[in-house]
Amino acid sequence: MPCPTHRGAKTVTQSADRPVDLIETALFNNRLWATEIQKNNPEFFEKLSQIHAPSLLWIGCSDARVPANQLIGMQPGEVFVHRNIANQIQAADMNCLSVIEFAITVLRVQHILVVGHSDCGGVKAAIRGDAPELVSHWVRPIQRLFIKHMATLKELPFHEQVNALVRLNVIEQTKQLAQIASIRSAWQKGQQLTIHGWIYTLQSGLLEEVTHINNIAAADTILLKAE
Ligand SMILES: [Zn+2]
Repeated sequence: MPCPTHRGAKTVTQSADRPVDLIETALFNNRLWATEIQKNNPEFFEKLSQIHAPSLLWIGCSDARVPANQLIGMQPGEVFVHRNIANQIQAADMNCLSVIEFAITVLRVQHILVVGHSDCGGVKAAIRGDAPELVSHWVRPIQRLFIKHMATLKELPFHEQVNALVRLNVIEQTKQLAQIASIRSAWQKGQQLTIHGWIYTLQSGLLEEVTHINNIAAADTILLKAE
């Protein structure tokens, strides 16, 4: 059934032509996408349904402008994904910790990517202290990081403060990961596993690696330096 808002483009998304019924359009786009893949690769979905073996775990921000697979040209099945506001790893977050444990012990991913991004709303909220209650609580660790680096950050204009704190936050999250039992245990057993800290720049579409940790000795050196 042709979608009433479909105007001949491959998919219909938000634009000047914003569809009247977004949900109907989303389902229509899905059928179009599945049909297109079936046409080019008839076995794609059948194969995908039989195995789940991604090599990457992506821990990114929930921001709609930073979709994991799309940014690194990966297909469905290639990236295990966890996203939350401002890409944080918190010791009491069973959701994130379970994802990490599953990724390492069952999927045996070889790389964990912690991906922050420029102009992050969660980081802005941490600086301004103006988020709603729960979000405010969630970004508190970033606020503490801001206070810790206040002396240098306060000299910068707001926009640069945000991006400098985005970078500090990514580095901090890699340190959080380096203390997680399932990761340390994997390293101790000789499992190949690298934690990468990446930043995505909204204005250029480019990713940059700011740090990485690939063994327990390197992790301990970094953690001791941070104390
Ligand atoms: Zn963000």
